[in-house]
Amino acid sequence: MVVGAGATGLPAAIAACETGASVLLIEGNFDIGGHAGISGGNIPLGGGTSAQKRAGIVDSPDTLFADLTDWSVVQANGFADYRYNDREIIRAFADWSAPTYEWLLEKGVVFIDQPIDNRGAHGTGNSAPREAHFAAMDWVQFQTGKAQPPDRGPVTSSGIGLVRPLEAAARRMGVRILLKHKMTSLIRDGSKGRVIGLTCTNEGRELDIRARKAVILGTGGSTSNVNFRRIFDPRLTEEYSTAGDPFSPQDASGELAAMAIGASLWGTYNQSAEHGIALSKAGQIGTYHGYGPLMWQPGSPVFHLARATGLKVADWQDVILVSQAGRRFYDETSPQYTSNSYEAVPDYEPGSWRNAKDIDYNPRNFINAALAGTGEARNGGGPIWAIFDSEALARENWVPEPPYVDVAEGYFFSGATIEELAMNIKNRFQREPMPAGVLAETVRRYNSFVDAGADLDFEKPAPQYKIETPPFYAAWSTPVVHDTRAGLRINAQCQVVDLSGEVIPGLYCGGESAGGFAQHGLARCVVQGRIAGTNAGAENP
Ligand SMILES: Cc1cc2nc3c(=O)[nH]c(=O)nc-3n(C[C@H](O)[C@H](O)[C@H](O)COP(=O)(O)OP(=O)(O)OC[C@H]3O[C@@H](n4cnc5c(N)ncnc54)[C@H](O)[C@@H]3O)c2cc1C
Repeated sequence: MVVGAGATGLPAAIAACETGASVLLIEGNFDIGGHAGISGGNIPLGGGTSAQKRAGIVDSPDTLFADLTDWSVVQANGFADYRYNDREIIRAFADWSAPTYEWLLEKGVVFIDQPIDNRGAHGTGNSAPREAHFAAMDWVQFQTGKAQPPDRGPVTSSGIGLVRPLEAAARRMGVRILLKHKMTSLIRDGSKGRVIGLTCTNEGRELDIRARKAVILGTGGSTSNVNFRRIFDPRLTEEYSTAGDPFSPQDASGELAAMAIGASLWGTYNQSAEHGIALSKAGQIGTYHGYGPLMWQPGSPVFHLARATGLKVADWQDVILVSQAGRRFYDETSPQYTSNSYEAVPDYEPGSWRNAKDIDYNPRNFINAALAGTGEARNGGGPIWAIFDSEALARENWVPEPPYVDVAEGYFFSGATIEELAMNIKNRFQREPMPAGVLAETVRRYNSFVDAGADLDFEKPAPQYKIETPPFYAAWSTPVVHDTRAGLRINAQCQVVDLSGEVIPGLYCGGESAGGFAQHGLARCVVQGRIAGTNAGAENP
């Protein structure tokens, strides 16, 4: 039995089928795909794939392993991408990575016909470029409700180009897929026995399903579960949306079910470490779902839940960002965390102390200031609002109405004066009314910085535009939680391990619900799904 039909579950189901097992795949959502289906489709498989070889790129499993365990690579803000990865888990990934690229081709997945590059790379290792890209082809995309035009399909990178071909392969091979079946708990034979099945709900019914060989969890992580994500970072209270919502929430149901029968968490540093896009600056403003690379369009099957596309920010000089108390808190143009990949470290020497020698320590990034709060003894920074005027609106070509902004649920407001704007802001996460006088003073002071050509408070480079022409606007611009980098303890075979270090017989896990591997995204999920499926299918209890 496989739980979750995303980047981990689909390969797991196919791989288990290949061993001769009969496979049931249950998916809680109304369709397959998960985060994988709405992803950008950039996948860092390395270690010497045929595509790397065609491009003349030298790579090997040993190089990939060394890269992803290199203690010496450090970000400019002091954080280490690879240092806290579990060596056993990375060794398995390194050995299975290149063969998994070829396996995907065999299953009918189409990659964009272009040389391997670095596009979308986050924590992919510094010795070689490794990113391949799934072609969207003519599959209908969840975020738009449309397929790419025929000339764009083969050259547009999208996760739909992974999940639909794998779904087709799984069905061809006899995997039975049950949609709208959500696992709620695992069934174990006594406190130390095998996992023999699970309980799930289907449209109000509760079902127990028996697993003859094993259960594989590919449930996709925990970022949407506020209590769970706060285990790692207490600041992450309710106001922070997550990148895959409202299509595919990461509700920690896999982790919770496994922990209830004794499973351990693993590699928890990776979840709170400050690297990559795990916590992202809002790319679209005026909507709760502001994760930059994902813009929901009116044709999407979940647009009634997303409610707005949001306004893409081209130039952060066009807005100021204020806390719920109406005060600026940082240079709006500053970035989020960075992460490592090929060519990020000049003259990279594997495992050498010299890799960090010339890093200019640069703690500047927007995220920590945004999450800091306004000085009270409570967690969570509260809403962040982008404040701008009608001239900024014209410069950015924004339309201040639905479906571009979410007025109905309180993520976009306007006012004839700054004071009126502040008084109009009403949102379920805005704990107290924004003080109108404070916002007016913030805008007045910022306008004086534009006159002076220097931001005395936060050193925004040469503030360019005053906020002075009504109407004035406030658009939700609160950071977004992107992905899960820590979860259940697994071993190299993707078996789940308990708090005493013992394998829980008959239980496997991979992808974002598994811990021990900090890399963002699809590669670890697809590879671990395949490992889990192969090993679970071979079980003979
Ligand atoms: C907008 C966006 C863009 C991205 N772009 C990229 C990219 O370009 N490259 C990259 O490498 N990574 C990217 N990622 C990350 C990547 O998509 C994920 O890391 C990956 O899909 C996670 O795989 P998974 O199998 O762990 O979870 P998912 O792919 O999310 O699959 C989990 C599935 O399990 C189901 N499920 C959960 N709980 C239950 C339950 N209790 N019962 C039954 N079913 C359940 C879910 O509905 C879901 O379908 C992106 C993510 C997002 C959100």
